[in-house]
Amino acid sequence: MGEFDFIGRLQQRLAEQPFNAGIDVGIGDDAAILSPPPDHRLVVTADTLNAGVHFPHCTAPYDIGYKTLAVNLSDLAAMGAEPWACTLTVGLPSLDPAWMESWLDGFLAAAQLGGITLIGGDTTRAPFATFGVTAMGLLPSDAAAGNGGLRRANALAGDDVWVSGELGGAALALRLGEAAPADLRLRLDRPIPRLALGSALRLVPDIGGCCDVSDGLLADLGHIAMASGVRIELDADRIPMGMDVRSVSDGLMLALTGGDDYELAFTAAASAREQVLAAGEETGVAVTRIGRALGGEPGVHVLDPMGREVPVPPRAGWDHFAATAD
Ligand SMILES: [Mg+2]
Repeated sequence: MGEFDFIGRLQQRLAEQPFNAGIDVGIGDDAAILSPPPDHRLVVTADTLNAGVHFPHCTAPYDIGYKTLAVNLSDLAAMGAEPWACTLTVGLPSLDPAWMESWLDGFLAAAQLGGITLIGGDTTRAPFATFGVTAMGLLPSDAAAGNGGLRRANALAGDDVWVSGELGGAALALRLGEAAPADLRLRLDRPIPRLALGSALRLVPDIGGCCDVSDGLLADLGHIAMASGVRIELDADRIPMGMDVRSVSDGLMLALTGGDDYELAFTAAASAREQVLAAGEETGVAVTRIGRALGGEPGVHVLDPMGREVPVPPRAGWDHFAATAD
């Protein structure tokens, strides 16, 4: 299979998918032409997945395709944006038709889930599999439709700290490898971007800082703490975990530092508790209040029920240039 066969196949498959409004020219020209709808701002994010770094080499092609797009959709969710259009860059040692077809199935399933249209990209030969997406979302600029999106820097001292879903499942699946039960494995391979929740949170009055949990709760909340200049305290016994994570001896550490959960972590004024719970209920995603933002030295601390600090690893969370890939 050559590059042009692949692009031809991609075009065929895309013809089966709905096409978002405002995409004047998609795949097939030297570049795409877009007309963002009036009264909307463009939200742009880019994320790359590399074999051996972001997914084990044995991952099924469908799951790699799905996750390539899903992690980008999660970043749009963290900004409260609605997915609109994306580009794709594929680097592979060779193009195997059956492998690529399955990869495309996964990618297009995520595209359909998020309501995003692929508008172009590039295919190259590379020494290992690498997939890059640039995703564009829309944010209504009408003040009545929100406060201008969710940002990391918007947390205030006095806010509650919240997280969606359950944490640690993806990290446990990664650790168990082939031995992971199928439902746990899905937490790693098919994360569900919290798009509806992000949009609902954008409309909550006095919503604070927000990010998605990709590198681990402590690392990602650390970004909110630094950007907002707040000290964040988490209650260890409130961190939401599934039974499988709870039942391993270091389950709490997996939930705090594991990463790849793609949940939303955010802060909101205490006066907004009802609205935050309603946003969760409306969108079918559990939201749990796990701590508070305070004045003081920016950082994230975990407390046990007695109020004693729980020791956490100094480098909690994923840092590409501090770690070596397997
Ligand atoms: Mg992110």
